[in-house]
Amino acid sequence: MSKIVLNEREVAEAAIATNKLGAKPGETLIRVAKYYAQVEGYKKKEIRRKLEDLLLKNDPRTLLMKWDDALDGIVKTSNKTPLIELDGVPITSNELQIIDSLPSKQLARLAFTLLCVAKYWYAVNEKNNMWVNTADRDIMAMANISASIKRQSELLHNLRELRLIQFSKRVDNLNVQVLFAEPHGSTTMMVTDFRNLGNQYMLRLGGSFIRCEQCGLVVRRKNNAHRYCTDCAAELHSRKSIESVSRKRDNKAVSFQPV
Ligand SMILES: [Zn+2]
Repeated sequence: MSKIVLNEREVAEAAIATNKLGAKPGETLIRVAKYYAQVEGYKKKEIRRKLEDLLLKNDPRTLLMKWDDALDGIVKTSNKTPLIELDGVPITSNELQIIDSLPSKQLARLAFTLLCVAKYWYAVNEKNNMWVNTADRDIMAMANISASIKRQSELLHNLRELRLIQFSKRVDNLNVQVLFAEPHGSTTMMVTDFRNLGNQYMLRLGGSFIRCEQCGLVVRRKNNAHRYCTDCAAELHSRKSIESVSRKRDNKAVSFQPV
C-alpha cells in the first residue's frame, strides 16, 4: 500500500524536473507513469523508456534488469486509475462533532484518521463508498497511536460497538467502512497533509502541539521555543553550523590582512 498523496501530478512533475525519485522510487515511478500516460499521452513503449531514463538519472548505478518486472507492472497499469489531484479532503462539522464526543482522545484520533482516509478514497472514486483498506500499522502510525496490538483491536471494537465503523478483517489489512462519514455537508476543516493525522486532531483541540514552521508536520510541543520538527531542526542546525564555520573563516581571513 503506497503512501497517501493528495496531488500525484505535483509529485510526478517534481520527480521529472529534478530527476529525483525520493526514498521510495517505486511509488514515485507509479505516479510518473500515470502522468506520462494520462497527461502527456505517451504510448507504453515510450513510458517504459522514459522511466528507465529517469531511474538512471536518479542513480546512475541502477541495475535496470532488477527493475524489469516492476516496470512491466507500472507501465501496464499506468492508465488503470486516474492521476489523483486533490487540494484536500473536506471534513464536516457533523463528523467532527461525533469524533469530539468520543470517550477518549486515543479513540478520537483513530476515528479521525479512519475518517480522513475513507474520505480520501471517496474523493478519488465515489465507488470506494467510505471503505478503508490499509494495513493496521499504517493507520495507527497516521493516528499517532503507539499502543499494544491488543489495545489497538480494543479501540477498533469500541468504534464498531458505537456503530461508527463496520469491518471485515482480511489477513493483516483492515477493511473498514466508516459509517459516520458524510459524502456531502458543510466543510469545517480541510485536511491537506496525511502525516500525523492524530496530532493534527489534537492541535485543533488546542493541545500542546505545534505545526513545524518549515515543513508543516504537526508534532508534540517540547517547550515554548519549539518551532520545528526533529528533521527540520537537524537540517537547520547543520546549515547554521556550516554558516558559522565559514563566517569564522572569513573573519580570520580579514584579520590576517596586512594593515
Ligand atoms: Zn519540519
